[in-house]
Amino acid sequence: MAQSILTDIKKAAKKSLKAQKDALSNAQMQLEILNGELFEDGELPYFKDKIAETNQFPLRPKTLEVLQINVGYMCNQVCGHCHVDAGPDRKEIMTRETMQQCLDVIKNTGAHTLDLTGGAPEMNPDFRWFVEEASKAGIKDFIVRSNLTIILANKKYHDLPEFFKKHNVHVVSSMPHYTRGKTDKQRGDGVFDKSIKALQMLNEVGYGMPESDLRLDLVYNPSGAFLPADQAAMEHDFKKALKEDFDIDFHNLFAITNLPISRFLDYLIASDNYEDYMYSLVEVYNPAAVESVMCTNTISVSWDGWLYDCDFNQMLDLKVASKVKHIKDFNDDVLSNRDIIISQHCYGCTAGAGSSCQGTVA
Ligand code: SF4
Ligand code: SF4
Repeated sequence: MAQSILTDIKKAAKKSLKAQKDALSNAQMQLEILNGELFEDGELPYFKDKIAETNQFPLRPKTLEVLQINVGYMCNQVCGHCHVDAGPDRKEIMTRETMQQCLDVIKNTGAHTLDLTGGAPEMNPDFRWFVEEASKAGIKDFIVRSNLTIILANKKYHDLPEFFKKHNVHVVSSMPHYTRGKTDKQRGDGVFDKSIKALQMLNEVGYGMPESDLRLDLVYNPSGAFLPADQAAMEHDFKKALKEDFDIDFHNLFAITNLPISRFLDYLIASDNYEDYMYSLVEVYNPAAVESVMCTNTISVSWDGWLYDCDFNQMLDLKVASKVKHIKDFNDDVLSNRDIIISQHCYGCTAGAGSSCQGTVA
């Protein structure tokens, strides 16, 4: 089957798949599809066989650099492509007890980056306490992944830019496009205008300004069943458009490939794009990207403290293949001896220039 560039827009949803009791909210069901006939029948190679061609199977971790903590799946948005299946109806929230277990690890690990994600992490009632405590650990790069609109969602969040500044947080924000139409289709009506306002509020306190140490990066992901264009070219276009139209500054743009899981998988199947998308990913498989996929330097922690090779494996309920499986038992030496669990969704991380939470990798 030839690769096709499909341009259907993935629309924002009203409820999570879980709230809709959709069969695809079940991780096992998603894995069955990812291991299904396209690969079983040999039409496409399994990811493990593909990386074995360059002696990269089994995939093994290197030095732990990033601790990515998902503090809950609740979100004020229900974006169409969301791999977390997040939304206002999701109730999974990290408790202060689990946060404390994370803090104990943060203080003792050699990881230089702490990456808080969600859902909308700010909606966790203990979010500010956690940021205050974690910022005392002196970690080099302290990232909070903010969807921007949360800053405008309620009065209690309006001071978030000042709060982030006070704790020298590195803000990484989703911004699917510099046009209203594409952004609102994917993330919901009114999201573009609120995101622009939030970016201006962040700029006002110093975030994203050319010489500022207050880092503000944006994340782009495609709005349909196609792969991101060149990251540097897109960054240039975003910077030009946001500056000219709204006087907004930011530092870097990360281009992220949508992985075929959760709500994006649901969309691919519903729009009959699943096979073409998998063909596209395999066709542009880049062996050079395998070495730097984010599971090789990251551990992902779920809201209830379980450990995963990455946020995607977390959503597929694929816990680390190690004796140590929970943050309360964290042991870097034991964890570094594991094999990373892979499946066909991993082709999303190795397509083209590669993809990670920090953008391209190769
Ligand atoms: S803002 Fe992020 S976490 Fe929330 S629904 Fe959208 S993609 Fe998912
Ligand atoms: S999906 Fe996760 S496990 Fe698979 S290659 Fe990407 S980061 Fe690694």
